[in-house]
Amino acid sequence: MRRWNGWGDSATEMKLNASALAMLAELAGTAQPTQDATLDALLAGIPASRLPPHALISTDAAERFKVALGESYPDWIRRRFGALPTVPDGVAFPESSGEVRKLLDLAQAQHWIVIPYAGGTSVVGHLDCPQSPRPVLSISLGRMNQLLHLDRKSQLATFGAGATGPVLEAQLRAQGYTLGHFPQSFEYSTLGGWVVTRSSGQQSMRYGRIEQMFAGGRLETPVGTLTIPTFPASSAGPDMRELVLGSEGRFGVLTEATMRVSPMPAHESFHALFFPDWDSAEAAVRALAQLKLPLSMLRLSNAIETRTNLLLAGHAGQIKWLERYLGWRGCADGKCMLMLGVTADAVTARQALATARRLLKRHGAVYIGRAMGNKWLENRYKGPYLRNSLWEHGYSADTIETAVDWPQVKNTMHAMEAAAHEAFAEFGQKVHAFTHLSHLYPQGSSIYSTFVWATAPGGFAENLKRWQNYKARVAAAIAAHGGTVSHQHGVGRDHAPNLALEKGQLGMATLAELCRHFDPKGIMNPGKLLQDGGGELSWDREPK
Ligand SMILES: Cc1cc2nc3c(=O)[nH]c(=O)nc-3n(C[C@H](O)[C@H](O)[C@H](O)COP(=O)(O)OP(=O)(O)OC[C@H]3O[C@@H](n4cnc5c(N)ncnc54)[C@H](O)[C@@H]3O)c2cc1C
Repeated sequence: MRRWNGWGDSATEMKLNASALAMLAELAGTAQPTQDATLDALLAGIPASRLPPHALISTDAAERFKVALGESYPDWIRRRFGALPTVPDGVAFPESSGEVRKLLDLAQAQHWIVIPYAGGTSVVGHLDCPQSPRPVLSISLGRMNQLLHLDRKSQLATFGAGATGPVLEAQLRAQGYTLGHFPQSFEYSTLGGWVVTRSSGQQSMRYGRIEQMFAGGRLETPVGTLTIPTFPASSAGPDMRELVLGSEGRFGVLTEATMRVSPMPAHESFHALFFPDWDSAEAAVRALAQLKLPLSMLRLSNAIETRTNLLLAGHAGQIKWLERYLGWRGCADGKCMLMLGVTADAVTARQALATARRLLKRHGAVYIGRAMGNKWLENRYKGPYLRNSLWEHGYSADTIETAVDWPQVKNTMHAMEAAAHEAFAEFGQKVHAFTHLSHLYPQGSSIYSTFVWATAPGGFAENLKRWQNYKARVAAAIAAHGGTVSHQHGVGRDHAPNLALEKGQLGMATLAELCRHFDPKGIMNPGKLLQDGGGELSWDREPK
């Protein structure tokens, strides 16, 4: 069963070993566990629904609470400290595009607010419910999760947009195909959520980002149905798919998506290599990304993330031997770990791996084989479960990501970590900050930083204040280095204040005009992507 106040399935646990806890005490300071609120206490505070009874809508308090929050840090501490968020007045569970259409028509006629809800894994406040004189309806897409059509000749599969990763892949694999989209939130996030937040999966190097896979679909908007047909390619003006990608529930509800799928690969393997230092590692992966070999993944950890990962791996004896061997090969204190994936037919995979290893060796890489790669594969979705154990030991965790062109990569990474250190130092606190490059392109790379700090006494308000301060400082560091507000998590409410920096005034006006076009009454997920919604809306918290 999915945890109500933590990440993932309650049957899965990731424990922190003694060495990892000692490292945290050194780098993030000592911590004290805090008292968790109970679900019953939160549910007891939910006000009565303002919606009239309707066959498609549940007004049950527990159902409404489930869709009120995502997985951002503020969402997390609300549940843990018992700070009740504003909760939608009702939840609908449509089973077809027709039912979504009916719900949108009703919401539009009654002037309700609509928030599409899918996997609830947003980490940037996409699901925040506004306080408004208008009732709020959440449309939960979980029942629209079936493979509707498979065109084997064209390798196109049409799904209900509410299919989660495991449900979607199981249906495709039964037919010999894969979508190949594996975000770390795979267990719960959905096809529709991926498309409208422009998601990126761990093997995007082979399969592409979600925008390369999205071939067409059906968007139910307040003013009608937008059907996007599939073409292998087209020069017929601006591409309507771009209106859906990244729309974050503002233009309508994506009910069906047709995706470019691939036959299951014959060969897939993951390999670990180490570099003596960051500069040699970055030069190596840049050259490799620009060579455009058929690799599926490159994931380069900086020195502090490498140290953290080796400690978290457990097996202290084996890691000691590995470090001794690496030291002897020139990879000592500042060493950086690279995880490399190859997904292809057996011959192509062998050739790609051999070419990659030759290139990386020229930059000082030490290849250590597949054992750590196999471990990575086994645990590919388990990292976020550490957030549960961290909290239980008194630590908070959060991640921030961006993407920049190659000349800015190293400085941006350092600036993001430094901004977090400065932000927490203002409160007399330390933070353990570490980073990896997770999606590499010939032009540049994404940068993904993780931050762990001791949860402060003082409950929700105090911890929210400290988080807002660090988030704003890291966002400013990203902006100062020309980074995008998000490489893969989207905009939501948390990144909306900085969006104008990259879209410009005319760009923002265009987005606002598109919202008015598809949604003239302003019912669709207001306040997300754009800071709009008029004076009638207020929020439980403001992004800084
Ligand atoms: C532990 C963890 C790991 C993560 N790892 C990754 C990662 O590796 N890569 C990555 O890209 N992201 C990652 N994310 C972020 C998150 O999983 C993505 O943003 C995901 O795409 C959200 O999908 P969802 O189905 O959960 O959508 P939700 O969180 O339910 O909704 C997100 C937004 O999309 C809108 N929406 C959802 N479905 C529809 C629809 N059918 N029509 C219209 N609007 C809709 C909602 O209204 C909301 O605005 C991670 C998150 C967590 C918590």
